[in-house]
Amino acid sequence: GATRLAAVVGRPVRHSLSPLIHNAWLAAAGIDGAYLALSPSEEGFPHLVEGLRGSSLAGINVTLPFKEAALAAADVASTRAQLAGAANLLLFAEDGSVQADNTDGQGLLGAFASQASGFDPAAAPVVILGAGGAARGAAAAFVLAGAPKVRLVNRTKGRAEAIAHALGEAVSAHAWSELPGLLDDAGALVNATSLGLEGQAPLEIELDPLPASAPVMDMVYRPLTTRLLEDAAGAGHPVVDGLEMLILQAAPSFEAFFGQAPPAGVDVRALALAALEQDA
Ligand code: NDP
Repeated sequence: GATRLAAVVGRPVRHSLSPLIHNAWLAAAGIDGAYLALSPSEEGFPHLVEGLRGSSLAGINVTLPFKEAALAAADVASTRAQLAGAANLLLFAEDGSVQADNTDGQGLLGAFASQASGFDPAAAPVVILGAGGAARGAAAAFVLAGAPKVRLVNRTKGRAEAIAHALGEAVSAHAWSELPGLLDDAGALVNATSLGLEGQAPLEIELDPLPASAPVMDMVYRPLTTRLLEDAAGAGHPVVDGLEMLILQAAPSFEAFFGQAPPAGVDVRALALAALEQDA
C-alpha cells in the first residue's frame, strides 16, 4: 500500500513536538507512514484544508492559531469539538468530507488519570484559570466528565462569561479577586492561561485555600516545571503537567490516522523531554 501520511498544522510549527512523537510511534510500530509539519499563512489555512479534501493525507492535527478555523472548515464535528469550540484533529475521508474532532480534553483528563491517580473529575468543583481556547477546551472536557461545577477565572471576565454562556449552567465566570473563595471546596486547579510560559511572568497565586488532596495541573509545558507546579508540589498537591496532556491528546490522533493505537515500549515522554531541553 501507499505510505500513510498525516501532519501537524500551526503557525509557528517549528517547535511542535508532534512530529517527534508520531514519528517515534510510527517507527516503533513498523508502519509505512510519515508525519509532517505544515505552516500556512493565517489566510491560507482554509485553502489548505480545501486542498487536502479527499487527498491521500489521512488527516491533520491543528495547533495555534488555527483550532477555531479548523472547526469552521469541517463538514461535521464531534460533540466534544463543538463544545470546545475548536478542533485539534481533522480527518479527510475518502468520500471527500472533512471531519473535525478534539482530543485535547481526552489528553487533559488522561494526564490527570496518569499523574494524579484516584482523581475523580465528577467529585468536586474544578477551578480553571484563563478564558482562551485552552480554557474553553478544558472546561468542556470537565463538563463532559460530569464535574458538578466548573469555575472559570480570568483577567478579562467577559471572555469567561462568554464561555460560561456557551457551555451552560455548570460553568461560572469569575474575576481573579474571587479566587480564594473559589478554591476552598475545589477538587482540582488548572492553569490554562499563558502565565508561566517561557518569556512570560510566572503564575503566582495563593494555594493555601485549596485542599491538599486536590491536584494542580499546568497546561504550560515550556518550561515543564513551572512556578505553579513547584509551589503546588511544595504544598503537597499531586501535580499534573502539560507534556502528559500533549502526549495523551496525540495518542487518539495517531489511532485515527494510522488505524492502530500507539505501540507500547517507546518512551515518547523521554524523547519529548530531551527535545524540550535542547530547545531551551
Ligand atoms: P490564549 O492566548 O487564547 O489565552 C491566554 C489566556 O491567558 C487568557 O485567558 C489571558 O487573559 C490570560 N493571560 C495572559 N497574560 C495574562 C496576564 N499577564 N495576567 C492574567 N492573565 C493573562 O491562549 P490559549 O488558550 O490558546 O493557551 C493558553 C496556554 O495553554 C498556553 O500556554 C498554551 O501553550 C497552553 N496549551 C497547552 C496545551 C497542552 O497540550 N499542554 C494545549 C493547548 C494550550 P485575558 O483573556 O484577560 O487576556
